[in-house]
Amino acid sequence: MATTMQRTNRAATPARWQAALTRAMEAGVQVRQLTSGAWIATSATDPTAAYELGVTGDVAHDCTCKAGAFGDPVCCHRAAYYHLVGLLDRDPEPPNPAAPVLVIIDGARYATRSTREEADAVAASIRRWASTSTHVAVLAA
Ligand SMILES: [Zn+2]
Repeated sequence: MATTMQRTNRAATPARWQAALTRAMEAGVQVRQLTSGAWIATSATDPTAAYELGVTGDVAHDCTCKAGAFGDPVCCHRAAYYHLVGLLDRDPEPPNPAAPVLVIIDGARYATRSTREEADAVAASIRRWASTSTHVAVLAA
């Protein structure tokens, strides 16, 4: 059976670079410059493999990984390279990371994605309107 190699038309968007950098960091991808001047990046999945980066100036225009071979301009190896040379940083964490807050009503737990203050306000309004025997508590998950 014949296989068809297709070059991708995927775009290099900031979101894709961020996702690639996150993958690289989570997989522990490391970038090194050889004494010859060539750049290599360790594989995210194969601990014995590394890929060669084609770098001109500060631009990593090629990578010998599968994504690079298929013409994708973005891969975690090039993202790791750009991070190493200071051209790509991770976006800061959102100011209100969605840590769930639990509102407990009569022992039943309701996870919310609101802040502690919002959960406290919800609990206060439940206490105001529910019967006095209803037990309401707020717990950071
Ligand atoms: Zn790559």
